[in-house]
Amino acid sequence: MMDRHLQSENYSLRQQLETLLHEARRNEDKMRRFDQLQHQLIGADSLLVLIRLLLSEYRLAFGVEFVTLALIDREYEVTRILDSGLDNETACSGLTLLQSPATLEALYGEKCAPCLGTFDDALHQTLFNAPLGAIASVALLPLMRHGELIGSIHFGSADPDRYVTGCGTDFLERLAEIIAICLENALSQEHLKLMGLTDALTGVQNRRYFDHRCPIEVSQARRYKRPLACMFLDIDKFKRINDTYGHQTGDEVLMNVATVIRSQLRGGDTIARYGGEEFVVLLPQTDMHHTHQIAERIRSSIAEAQLQALSGQPINLTISIGLSMLDTEDSAAEHSLLAERMVAAADKALYQAKHTGRNRVICAGNLPTEVEQHTPWGRILRLPAVSVNRLLTAATEVKIAVLKCLKRA
Ligand code: GH3
Ligand code: MG
Ligand code: MG
Repeated sequence: MMDRHLQSENYSLRQQLETLLHEARRNEDKMRRFDQLQHQLIGADSLLVLIRLLLSEYRLAFGVEFVTLALIDREYEVTRILDSGLDNETACSGLTLLQSPATLEALYGEKCAPCLGTFDDALHQTLFNAPLGAIASVALLPLMRHGELIGSIHFGSADPDRYVTGCGTDFLERLAEIIAICLENALSQEHLKLMGLTDALTGVQNRRYFDHRCPIEVSQARRYKRPLACMFLDIDKFKRINDTYGHQTGDEVLMNVATVIRSQLRGGDTIARYGGEEFVVLLPQTDMHHTHQIAERIRSSIAEAQLQALSGQPINLTISIGLSMLDTEDSAAEHSLLAERMVAAADKALYQAKHTGRNRVICAGNLPTEVEQHTPWGRILRLPAVSVNRLLTAATEVKIAVLKCLKRA
């Protein structure tokens, strides 16, 4: 009798020991994978690599079906950092950039603690965008730095028992802490890099950035056979502004001009201060007709802006603009050579604008055929490019004359 009791107790203890050993081995394995992931995260040499690791490696290492990440990006800095990545194929699926922390604050409440539990369609679908029924349980982890919410990482599992309400969250909390530190480090490093590529006075990109970006845009345009336009802008008689109103007013004018140019561009366009009072713009997927309209809007906004010197005196300011298109048909040349040709053509057109009276927009002489098709006059008359230029110049002159008459009236 006693023997049988001992035997059964022995069996039960063995089983408990087995379970504990199994659990210990699983934890050991989990810690090993966690250590590996941690090393990879710390070793990531850019924000983009870090984000990709988070979105793909975790899924593979821990067998979680869905991983998504949300980052708070109030000043669009993360957007700019990711946009300036080497290729444009960087759309990180699973990443959401939020301009305000409101959604995440509502999700986590005051305590900002991890949420584990059953998938709730109404609460969680927008976080994952997964097919209905694919996720059964979720773990949502707030990413905090210095007491502030910087983002949130979300794990979705098909297994309903994987993440259970009230279950221990030590491991996940440690993971969230490490992710937040790595993100903060990557962001501050990228910020430094970005500062080296930004013009301190106007806040737009600098020449160094432009020289790096231009061949990339060219390669994208050639690969997808899309148009790429280039705009070269130079403030007219800027020296006189400095001489008349002082250098400080000159600086203010430069900042204002940069703001006006930027206000007419899209998120994917590039604007850089090329030198002193010269700016350069790249417009991907934009034909010459549309580029001309944008340039004309910039030119007229600057001519009509009511700027004042620090002394209160009104400033009359104008800008000249040269435009060119990338020759996407030129298959022989290298990207950087084509980029140089495109920029040189816009610069030449700018030179023409200066020599034909300033305060005008001129398209480069070697206009591609699309220009003729897209320009209303070209479409009707099928004029050679030079004539289109003359017409555009004449139209600008008529517009200036009409504006002057209206001002006088
Ligand atoms: P144009 O119509 O032919 O372009 O004449 P311009 O006077 O604009 O051209 P020029 O090249 O003769 O003069 C450019 C001036 O821009 C000279 C320089 O002092 C001024 N400049 C360059 N960088 C800055 C800057 O950062 N701040 C200020 N205030 N002035 C600058
Ligand atoms: Mg100038
Ligand atoms: Mg100049």
